[in-house]
Formats: sequence, structure tokens, C-alpha cells
Amino acid sequence: MVTGSTGRGRPTVGVFALQGDVREHLQALTAVGADAVGVRRPTELDRCDALVLPGGESTTMAKLARTFELLEPLRDRVKTGMPTFGTCAGMILLADRIEDGAVGQETVGGLDITVRRNAFGRQVDSFEGDLDFAGLAEPVHAIFIRAPWVEQVGAGVEVLARVGSAGHLDGRSADRRAVGRIVAVRQGHLMATSFHPEVGGDTRVHAQFVDLVRRS
Ligand code: GLN
Repeated sequence: MVTGSTGRGRPTVGVFALQGDVREHLQALTAVGADAVGVRRPTELDRCDALVLPGGESTTMAKLARTFELLEPLRDRVKTGMPTFGTCAGMILLADRIEDGAVGQETVGGLDITVRRNAFGRQVDSFEGDLDFAGLAEPVHAIFIRAPWVEQVGAGVEVLARVGSAGHLDGRSADRRAVGRIVAVRQGHLMATSFHPEVGGDTRVHAQFVDLVRRS
């Protein structure tokens, strides 16, 4: 642990801030008891106990991380146990394997999953639905925006949520291929969701992550 600020106190949780939906994550993390800070450079990452990789555009995020010399430090920290939560593009960045990635697309890696980018179909830009989520008493209303899904998980990966596990999907999302797809996972200190838990004011998934940070 870098700052020693975990335990019962407020852990410092960074949000990768070179691209993506940073502000909503900072608000959600603050609401559940973390000191939330934007991370744009390696010295800022050094001060964090944990990190969120937000939604955005995974190819751009990886390129910017390389340009700003954050990619290798991120790989090191994830490999050496920093709790990290990837949402949407952040899930892609954490994945060890990508289907339908851009040519030469780099990831941070560490999470033993295969993700399919833009998996729900290119014309279905976004949709919503209720999901049962492991460890949460009530379903989560999940917002998907050009989201990936998880094609395959390794032996150490726990599935936290699947599409269509509670209620119905809204609108054009009623694509039968989507039902049953894995959209949230955990592997030790790593968590990832295909959807955007930072949108809509429900902070239970962030609370689950900050609990994980406190226990690490
Ligand atoms: N489709 C984007 C990507 O491939 C992810 C979209 C999102 O994060 N909302 O990176």
C-alpha cells in the first residue's frame, strides 16, 4: 500500500483522467468515502491506493497513456496488486484479451478475460436494463454505451452480473444474442463492468469497489 491511508480511513482512489467520464466517477467515489483524485501523470498514480479506469474510447486511452508515460506504471501497479476498477472502455483496458480490437490495440491487462469491443452491435449505441449484481440486494439499473461484453473468463474470475438476469432490457436492446452475456466480473483486486455505474446516482457498485480497496 503506497500511502497507508486504507483500513478504516479514506483510501485515495485515482481516476484515470487523460480521457473518459472522469467527473462522475470522482463524485461517486467521494460519496462512498474515498479521497478521489484525477490521474494524468505517473507521480499522481504513485499517490493512489487504487484506481478507476473510466469509460471513454479504449484505443485513445491506451495511446494517451503511452504518450504520457502512464502505460507501464499502470501495468506495474495492476500487476503488483493495486485494486483497479474498469468500466466499459476501462474493462477493455484491463482485459488480457480483446476481440474486435483496433489493429495493434494495447491494454493494461491483468484481468484474465476476453472482451468483445462494441459487442452489442454497432447500431445499438446505448441501452439500459436491470441486472442482478452479486452482493447487492436489489438489481442495478445499468446503462450501456457502445459497450463490450465478456466472451470468456479464466478460472480465477468471478462473474458478478449478466445481461437479462433481472427484468427486461429497454428499447432496441432486446437482441436475444445479448441475453446471458457476462457484463461484470471480479478477479482478486480487479473489478470490471461493461456498463456505467457512475451514471444515475446509484453508488452501490462504487461502494463495493471501495470495500475491496479497504480489504486489500
Ligand atoms: N466502445 C468503446 C471502446 O471500445 C467503449 C465505450 C465506452 O466506454 N462507453 O473503447
